[in-house]
Amino acid sequence: MKRLYCYGVGALFSGFFTCSVVSCEGLWGTPMSETCRYVPTIQYCEAAAQQITDTCLRDCVVNLCTNAKVVCTGDVTVAECAKTDDFGNKKGGFVLPREPRQTCLDPVKEINWCQVSTPPKCQELTMVHELAHACGWKENTTGFGVPGDSSEGAINCK
Ligand SMILES: [Zn+2]
Repeated sequence: MKRLYCYGVGALFSGFFTCSVVSCEGLWGTPMSETCRYVPTIQYCEAAAQQITDTCLRDCVVNLCTNAKVVCTGDVTVAECAKTDDFGNKKGGFVLPREPRQTCLDPVKEINWCQVSTPPKCQELTMVHELAHACGWKENTTGFGVPGDSSEGAINCK
């Protein structure tokens, strides 16, 4: 996964450094949104999605890295994003409920993004977490490799 980043960046920097020792986060790619802040690039979203172990869920998330509509304005988004969890943590984003419920074969195409200023690694993992919800993954379900599932407790950006 890291190699993928490095090749992209290496092309830009003519291979002056190797990415095994330098973090290349955030240096390369196309942002998932032109207007929302603190979104990952499509390329880092796709790379981060590779940790999902379920094929249908992973393919769905990878597709949404390119095709999701990222919504960061509007009353509903702003109000929901203002809420914090029981530990005072800010919400990274959310997906509105839909009937019939979304699945990895029939995802919600829109995610709400709270524009929290976090390091690029957190942005990628948070995005993949939210896109997994858009693909039908339920909170606290383990065994799918989704970042921030209940085996981790919270998204681990380190
Ligand atoms: Zn969640």
